[in-house]
Amino acid sequence: MTDCIFCKIIKGEIPCSKIYEDDKAFAFLDIAPVNKGHALVIPKEHHETFEDLPDDLLEYLTKLVRKVSKSVKQGVNADGYNIGMNIGKAAGQLVFHAHWHIIPRFNDDGLKTWPQKEYKEGEMDKFKEQIVKFL
Ligand code: 5GP
Ligand code: ZN
Repeated sequence: MTDCIFCKIIKGEIPCSKIYEDDKAFAFLDIAPVNKGHALVIPKEHHETFEDLPDDLLEYLTKLVRKVSKSVKQGVNADGYNIGMNIGKAAGQLVFHAHWHIIPRFNDDGLKTWPQKEYKEGEMDKFKEQIVKFL
């Protein structure tokens, strides 16, 4: 994709702080980190979202995300990390080239996870039914 910012990063047309590259995948630091060391793992092939990734590539990338996560954790001496993907505009996806965020976390970083809601009586089962029928 010619106008994809991550394709341009892979091709070296936009500079980045690269942490890993092989024939299928690429990893680099996010320019606007949640915490310093926040990394992105991407396929070299342009696929818009998680759902578009071919199975073999998904499997490969998932293993790589684990490998890069461990190096981020060790490299910045983090206490833990969040792995996330924003899938779709509503979920905050800004760059439509599938990518995993690896966000190092520290006991005292002051960040929370996302806010949580409550179900009304019986509502949880209704949601379950709606979801199960598409599996
Ligand atoms: P999304 O919101 O699509 O899940 O995340 C896209 C991420 O890409 C953002 O966290 C943003 O900071 C990062 N990003 C956007 N443009 C660039 C860039 O040119 N270089 C780097 N290193 N990261 C970028
Ligand atoms: Zn792309």
